[in-house]
Formats: sequence, structure tokens, C-alpha cells
Amino acid sequence: MNDSTHSSAERTEVRTVRESGRTSVLVIGGGINGISTFRDLALQGVDVLLVERGDFASGASSASSHMIHGGIRYLENGEFRLVRESVQERNGLLKIAPHYVKPLQTTIPIYSTFSGILSAPLRFLTHKSGKPQERGAFLIKVGLTIYDTFSRDGGMVPRHRFLGRKKSLAELPSLDPNIKYTATYYDASMHDPERLALDVLQDGLAAHPGAHALNYVEAIARDGDEVVLRDRESGTEFPVKADVVVNASGPWTDLTNDALGVDSRFMGGTKGSHIVLDHPELLEATQGREIFFEHSDGRIVLIYPLKGRVLVGTTDIDADPSEVAVCTDEEVDYFFELVHHVFPSIPVSKDQIVYKFSGIRPLPRHEDTAPGFVSRDYRIEVDDKGSVPLVSLVGGKWTTFRALGESLSDIVLGLVHRTRTVSTLGRAIGGGRDFPRTEKAKRIWIQENLPGAGSRAERLLARYGTRAAQVWEYVEQGADAPLAGGDLSTRELEWMVAHEMVARLEDVVLRRTSIAFLGNADAEVLDEIADALAPLLGWDRSRHDAELEQTRVLLNERHGLHISSRTRG
Ligand SMILES: Cc1cc2nc3c(=O)[nH]c(=O)nc-3n(C[C@H](O)[C@H](O)[C@H](O)COP(=O)(O)OP(=O)(O)OC[C@H]3O[C@@H](n4cnc5c(N)ncnc54)[C@H](O)[C@@H]3O)c2cc1C
Repeated sequence: MNDSTHSSAERTEVRTVRESGRTSVLVIGGGINGISTFRDLALQGVDVLLVERGDFASGASSASSHMIHGGIRYLENGEFRLVRESVQERNGLLKIAPHYVKPLQTTIPIYSTFSGILSAPLRFLTHKSGKPQERGAFLIKVGLTIYDTFSRDGGMVPRHRFLGRKKSLAELPSLDPNIKYTATYYDASMHDPERLALDVLQDGLAAHPGAHALNYVEAIARDGDEVVLRDRESGTEFPVKADVVVNASGPWTDLTNDALGVDSRFMGGTKGSHIVLDHPELLEATQGREIFFEHSDGRIVLIYPLKGRVLVGTTDIDADPSEVAVCTDEEVDYFFELVHHVFPSIPVSKDQIVYKFSGIRPLPRHEDTAPGFVSRDYRIEVDDKGSVPLVSLVGGKWTTFRALGESLSDIVLGLVHRTRTVSTLGRAIGGGRDFPRTEKAKRIWIQENLPGAGSRAERLLARYGTRAAQVWEYVEQGADAPLAGGDLSTRELEWMVAHEMVARLEDVVLRRTSIAFLGNADAEVLDEIADALAPLLGWDRSRHDAELEQTRVLLNERHGLHISSRTRG
């Protein structure tokens, strides 16, 4: 999160909420789980206010491995409920959010036949940490066979395949020739998590006029029955009264409870980092697959292609949520070691890193359990001792957000004496509605909905899903000019400001687009976008310069970029 507070004019939406001063349900935290709960409640016609102290999906939700996965390894921890729910949700998201969630063929390189076999059942039986070590073929085969039974969606998802060394190397020639086997199965990847979160949010906003969502608004205290909010854009503080408060602050759940005067010890987050490489040879070596494996220290690692780059992650280190998470040099060295372990003939160097990111997983407090083996399942804690019930979410992955939102919403509906009228199961999300799935269907859709968009059509469809039709209609109605080397345009930016709650420069480069993720955020691009945003957001020169500086510092310090400050004549 960017910690600055500005003193700009109050946004219209903030004024509306401040003047009303009440809602039925206040959701604190605009990560994917708060947003999912918000959408679910809005669909039931419940008045709901979501507040997020940064931008939407800027916390743990921006730091994931971009995987929508069943979590095959959670089988080892005996988390069958979670695996079953995760694969059901994965299969569901491939259908309801096909614009951002895509099938991902995943290959595990295996170096031994039997290792890990003693420690895994021990963990399974005792739920204790055991000593992490590399899993052998036998254990992976058992896991994948169970996974297949949970996972297949009536035969839609192919069964896993096991190959010996020779065939594996024929498919993936750059793999370490010392492997004994590979196992290949299907999961899914999430191409634009922040935009997916925004789509879920927008569906919630559209569902009910009593649903409001504010970014850059923080819950800072409780005053009697009211929660005090601070608008970090204007600096204004104001109270809101709600019948129920939901704390969906992710890794910061205990800190938010503390601000509300409630002592809780629910959370025990772990830090995880990733690097993004611009590395055509490595990209080619993956053959479009995720390479998912276990290092000799037992930690899970992934290397996979995303948007023409290669994503490498992740670590799992106990972390303090009051500190900012950054990807350290040691983590980078560790990632390089991993790439070398799997693809020993492919050199990797630091100048191929175009972006780094790091975040804290909102995991439950764990005492003696090793970070990698802490439960990834979620639970919901209800504190109804006070006059306003406080519901805290503990945990919750990206993969399960829809089901989690429904469960959390069911509890809230009980507290406000309402019943469910709408299910989100199978309900298309945002630009996933009527999304064309085959190349032929795509071509037809583009012809019909993006006439004249030419070479921009594919990019618009990838960025907005079928919402691209509205964006293009808007773009066509005014003078337009390219921005950021053509990855954006002035009209498209206007659309984002008008329809996607952009408040800061960082929102555009980090979350409404993939400009930063792809390594395309240099000083010139930041200047260009800041210049275009200034009149749209009513920035004076000092706010314009402050935005540039904040974004530059954020990208350099949190994302490993090296953008120098520029003085323009
Ligand atoms: C390294 C890593 C890899 C991961 N990989 C995967 C993966 O591949 N697949 C998967 O399914 N999951 C993955 N996860 C887990 C997943 O990203 C998170 O569990 C999920 O995004 C949590 O969402 P959330 O909404 O609960 O929390 P968050 O996204 O953290 O949202 C909480 C929000 O609350 C806001 N907030 C805090 N305090 C206040 C306050 N007082 N007032 C207002 N707002 C406040 C914060 O700014 C934050 O945006 C990964 C996580 C990490 C860190």
C-alpha cells in the first residue's frame, strides 16, 4: 500500500457515503475476498459499503502466483475439503471468468521414485510439520490419482499423465537430463487478477443501488456503534453506522480489529515473492506449461509463462504484516538456483528481471507448523458480544473467492435477518459474459463488436473481456492518441477514470493495465500517463509531480525497478 494521504477535493462517491452515514453491512478490505462478499451481498439486495485503504486488490490479492488451482499438495496436509472446493471453483472460474482464467498445463519434474514417502503420511496423520523434503514419483502419483477424482468435472479436465525420462525430454528438451519422470496435469492461471477483482466489484455495484465501494478509504477506529473512516484522498474523517461489520483485511485482520478496539490473534501470515523475467529462451523452454516442482528443501516452486514473460516464485517466510513485504536479493538468488535446478543449460541474469513483487499470505496463526504446511483453508470468526456484530475472515485463497464470498455472506445474511435470493454459482463475471472461446468465435466477436479497432482489437478483448465493446464504443466517440507505446490510449484512460475508479497514477500502471508487470513502466511512460491523468482527475502541478514521485519510488522500492527522477524543461 502507498501510505501517502492527499488533500484533494472530496470525490462524489465519498460525499454520498459520508452524507448518508449508514449502511447495513460495512466490509473493511477491498481484496478479492472482501470484494466477493460485497458482490454476493449486493446481489441479495443488501445495503453494503466496501472500504479499501489502498486501491482495490492492492494487498495480498496483488501478490499471488496467479494460479487458480486445486492445491494438489494440500492433500498431503489432509485438507480434502479445501481441495474439493478449490477444484470445483477452478472448474467454475474457467467457465464464468474465461477472459482472465485460462487452463494451464502443469508439469512436475521428478528426480526420485520414493522420497518423501515417510514424512508425508506422518504430516497427514498428525497435522504437524514433518521435515520438508522432495517428493518422489510414488507419492506424486498417489496425489495426482486422488486429485483426478476430485478434479475432472465430469470428464472435461483430462487425467494426469506420467512419462519416463526419455519421453519427458522429448516434450521438454531443456529439462535437467537427470530427471526420472514427469507428471503432467491441468490447473488454471489468472492473467489479470486485479482486473478480475474489479469485474467482481463492478458486478456488485451494478446489482444494487445501495451498494457502494470506496478505494483509498481506511477504517481507523470505532466510536460507539460507528466505525470511523478516513478518506486518504481528501483527508476527511467521518463515521458510518452499520448493522454488521465484516473485517476482510487479509493479513492485516488483527491490526484492523485492534483499530476497532478488539483484541484478536487470528493471523500468522507468511511472505512470498516472485520475479518476472523477460527471457525468450526460458519462455520457449516451458513450452507454454507451468513447471511446478519441489526443491530439495521441500519448498514448492513454479516457473511459468504469462503475457510473454516468465513468472518465477515463490518463497514462504514468516512475516510481520506491519512491515512492507519486498523481494530480497537472497530470494532472487534462490529463484535463480531453482531455474538452474530445472533448466541447467539456460543461463539467467539479473538484468532479465523486469518486475518483482512480494506479499503476505493471510494465513491463520501457526505455532510449530512450518510455513509451507500451514492450512490454506479459511474460517470465519463471529464476535457478537457488542451491539454491532464483528465478523472476521481468517485466510482465504484467490481460487476459492466465490465460494468464500457466499459462505461469509450467508453468515451476514443470518445476522441481518435476510435470506439468500441469488446464487453466484455459475454466474458469469464482468467481461466473462458471452466471452468467445474459440479462435473463430473470437474473430466473429471482434468483427461484430470492435469494428475498426484493427490491431488493437485483441488487446482490448484480452484486457476487458466482452466489456471491450463498451470501451471501444466510448473510445470511438472522441479524439484518441496512443499512450505507453500503444498499450493504452488517451480515450481508454478517460474510460478508466470514468468507469474504473482510478484515483492515482499507480492504479493505472499496476492494476488497470499490466504496464508495470511487463516491465514497460519507465520514466517517459510515467510522465505521459501522469500528463494525461492530470486534467481528468483535476490535479494541479504539485499533485501531478507528487504522483510521479510516489509511483517512481513505489516501483523502485517495492518492485525492483530503477526509474530515475526526471526534470523536464
Ligand atoms: C506470495 C503469494 C502467492 C499466492 N499465490 C496464490 C495462488 O497462486 N492462488 C491462490 O488462489 N491464492 C494465492 N495466494 C493467496 C491469495 O493471494 C490471498 O489469500 C488472497 O488474495 C487474499 O485476499 P483477501 O481479500 O483476503 O486479502 P487482501 O487481498 O490482502 O485484501 C485485504 C485488503 O484489506 C485492506 N485493508 C487492511 N486494513 C484496512 C483498513 N483498516 N481499512 C480499509 N482497508 C484495509 C488492505 O489494503 C488489503 O487490500 C498467494 C498469496 C501470496 C502472498
